[in-house]
Amino acid sequence: MENCCKKEDCLFCRIIAGEIPSTKVYEDEKVFAFRDINPQAPVHILIVPKEHVCCADAIDGNNSHLVAACFEAVAKIAKAEGLTNGYRVINNCGEDGGQTVRHLHFHLLGGRKFREKMI
Ligand code: AMP
Ligand code: ZN
Repeated sequence: MENCCKKEDCLFCRIIAGEIPSTKVYEDEKVFAFRDINPQAPVHILIVPKEHVCCADAIDGNNSHLVAACFEAVAKIAKAEGLTNGYRVINNCGEDGGQTVRHLHFHLLGGRKFREKMI
């Protein structure tokens, strides 16, 4: 995919490095998770791999373990946040997907019922 940003000046890399403040909710060897600055639900957490991967389109056999790690974190964070009745996980990819920060991330949304369904 064209126009994918490089690691330089990546907002989420800077958040992971602690150069920009965030409200961290979870961290392990591969994953960092923090609250979205513009929450769309009572719980809105961004789960990102610590290693810079620009988007879902860049996932391959060498880095897919990072996606697995992110989803293991999803389950742990959802439990810690008390999302016992379900939640939504969203990834936006690229221009048409509406991705605004070009560092792979998964939105974990919960704490309300999502009546709007795209699919
Ligand atoms: P996306 O549009 O899928 O790329 O998601 C990017 C998300 O990052 C948006 O939901 C923003 O609200 C969120 N965001 C942008 N800057 C920050 C920040 N400094 N701290 C936390 N979340 C942020
Ligand atoms: Zn990055």
